[in-house]
Amino acid sequence: MIIDIHGHYTTEPQSLFAFRDKQLAGLIDATRKPTTNDLGITDEQLEQSVQRQLAFQKERGSDITIFSPRASGMGHHVGPEWVSQEWTRMNNNLIHRICSLLPENFIGVGQLPQSPGVDPRNCIPELERMVNELGFVGVNLNPDPSGGYWTDPPMTDRYWYPIYEKLVELEIPTMIHVTGSCNPNFHATGAHYINADTTVFMQLIQGNLFKDFPTLKFVIPHGGGAVPYHWGRYRGLSMMMKKPPLVEYLMKNVYFDTCVYHQPGIDLLAKVVPVENILFASEMIGAVQGIDPETGHYFDDTRRYVDAAKNLSDEDRYKIFEGNARTVYPRLDAILKKRGL
Ligand SMILES: [Zn+2]
Repeated sequence: MIIDIHGHYTTEPQSLFAFRDKQLAGLIDATRKPTTNDLGITDEQLEQSVQRQLAFQKERGSDITIFSPRASGMGHHVGPEWVSQEWTRMNNNLIHRICSLLPENFIGVGQLPQSPGVDPRNCIPELERMVNELGFVGVNLNPDPSGGYWTDPPMTDRYWYPIYEKLVELEIPTMIHVTGSCNPNFHATGAHYINADTTVFMQLIQGNLFKDFPTLKFVIPHGGGAVPYHWGRYRGLSMMMKKPPLVEYLMKNVYFDTCVYHQPGIDLLAKVVPVENILFASEMIGAVQGIDPETGHYFDDTRRYVDAAKNLSDEDRYKIFEGNARTVYPRLDAILKKRGL
């Protein structure tokens, strides 16, 4: 079985965007507020909207996608907290509906109603709802709700502890995932995402978060940002800070995905990072669309790179495609086992 742990709903029906436009327009002019939270999207429209994802699953040979709302759409920096709360519930509900309609293909992961400077405790009711009521198996946590200005404390700060306590209690991992950038210095998917992945890994080296939360699991997407490429730098910095070797210090809790869109990147990831810490993912349909003229294949057809990585054994590939995901996402594993998978 091939589990793609990183897919976003990026083919949403137009009425979701129309709602968002009105929601934001309503902040300036109350008469432009949406009159209803019912988007009027039928089940048929929802199924229709994910046909491209289903076709890619079939073509590329992945079985199930862990599916979450569009990351750049979370927009935690936009509007006051209630806007984030309302918008988050709406997006999580859409994911839940798609996963209920197509349970063989999608399993849900949610977004949180974060807002810059607002106590993360306020996200807990939605976190509990998405796991206990919507059946989600994980959640995306934004380390920078300001959208590129990093105004909240580092992820190792006690500020975030209420979220971590709840994640541990619910037995779900979190993917560290920023949303759009409103800082013109940082292109969202080209710089802001990769910066955040790298930044959080370095914060984890500086702090000692997993001493307090030994079972907490962080998935750092986009191949771990710059970390695998600079593995020696991080090992060296860790040593200078008198921390234990990285593999024992962080790699019981931190996982990287395979959203690195070329063969040399995957070869390096598989060579540098323990295979137990690599999770298969494509982020389709996401950041990089289109066909690589050098290979003739889609950039985000990441299965090809894992299949072709020379230093991986069949057992390693099993771990990357399936085994590690079952360990990191115990609720996913339980659902699959219930289905006899
Ligand atoms: Zn993503």
